[in-house]
Amino acid sequence: MRERFWDLPLDRLDRAEWEALCDGCGQCCLHKVEDADSGRVWPTNVACKLLDLRTARCSDYANRRRYVPDCVRLTPALAGQLEWLPATCAYRLRADGAPLPGWHPLLSGNPATVRAAGVSVIGRVISETIAGPLEQHIDWGDEEPLEVERVRDEDDD
Ligand code: SF4
Repeated sequence: MRERFWDLPLDRLDRAEWEALCDGCGQCCLHKVEDADSGRVWPTNVACKLLDLRTARCSDYANRRRYVPDCVRLTPALAGQLEWLPATCAYRLRADGAPLPGWHPLLSGNPATVRAAGVSVIGRVISETIAGPLEQHIDWGDEEPLEVERVRDEDDD
């Protein structure tokens, strides 16, 4: 791989460089829930069944689409378009022309810095194999859960 290849435009990276750009956070492997009314996409803490929760890496990356056909194959064009990619995602940052953060393993030389920076999903998510309904695992951030509002409306009737 070329020296400081991560500073190059995404469409100039070769296959090995492209794969090495991933910080291994695992955030893109979490399920999302779309609000049918607004189209807004909400994150959950539920991981794809193939995600190894101890490493935040796909347990069968080469064959993942055999088991998860809708797993998105990220491309240079998509990296700048997918709104649900986390703001910390290396592909999203580079698609926006931003530099990699200092905790990225390519800069720190240590994969553990992703977890130390609070970016890795390790220890913060559960597998879809035991999670139950996704709607019960939505990360609402600072906003009031929509489900709560709807239940209150029903209670008021
Ligand atoms: S969110 Fe981006 S950097 Fe993190 S695991 Fe997914 S592709 Fe890699």
